[in-house]
Amino acid sequence: MKLLKDKIQKLAQIKDGDVLKVDMFLNHQIDTKLLDAMADEFIRRFKGKKFTKILTIETSGIAIAYPVAQKLGLPLVFAKKQNSVNIDGEMFSAKVISYTHFREFNVIVSTKYLNDKDNVLIIDDFLANGSALRGLLSICQQAGAKVDGIGIAIEKHFQKGGTELREQGYEIESLAIIDEIDEKSNKIVFHE
Ligand code: 5GP
Repeated sequence: MKLLKDKIQKLAQIKDGDVLKVDMFLNHQIDTKLLDAMADEFIRRFKGKKFTKILTIETSGIAIAYPVAQKLGLPLVFAKKQNSVNIDGEMFSAKVISYTHFREFNVIVSTKYLNDKDNVLIIDDFLANGSALRGLLSICQQAGAKVDGIGIAIEKHFQKGGTELREQGYEIESLAIIDEIDEKSNKIVFHE
């Protein structure tokens, strides 16, 4: 998606550990016009699918998933991050390794908000090694829900998550796919 790629090229900063900082339009300050256009693009790419729910993970996924859910007239469920391992029986839960914080945490979704009749579209901001997505996929599996599509704002293709999950048969649509980043020169190469 050209609009998003232009924004990344112009504003994103590359940090240590192959982290792309997009605080100025996605992760801290939010460019609402851009996110509205991104939602239209996700909807265009998944046209014809009959989703019942949008699922994302707090915090940054929510702003991206919200306009998609709103335009499709669907509920948006976000997995909550929970530090405690004491989770009561009414939650689906999964472990996720945080790419940016180098720690493991639990994500939880109440059993009230996901079930075996759901056809889910998962949305998230970044795809790197795929741990966040695997957590969300595990939660859908526990609920018996079908995952019919995954929409990602920025996929770092040089990390293994996207390739592995596509090999497992998941339909992933990423609006900007990055092949290479270089911290020293702040160079960002997009996948053609
Ligand atoms: P994964 O679980 O696929 O390794 O990483 C995806 C998650 O880590 C996303 O939910 C996102 O919050 C965070 N993340 C991974 N890479 C980046 C990055 O380059 N920049 C930012 N801002 N977040 C990232």
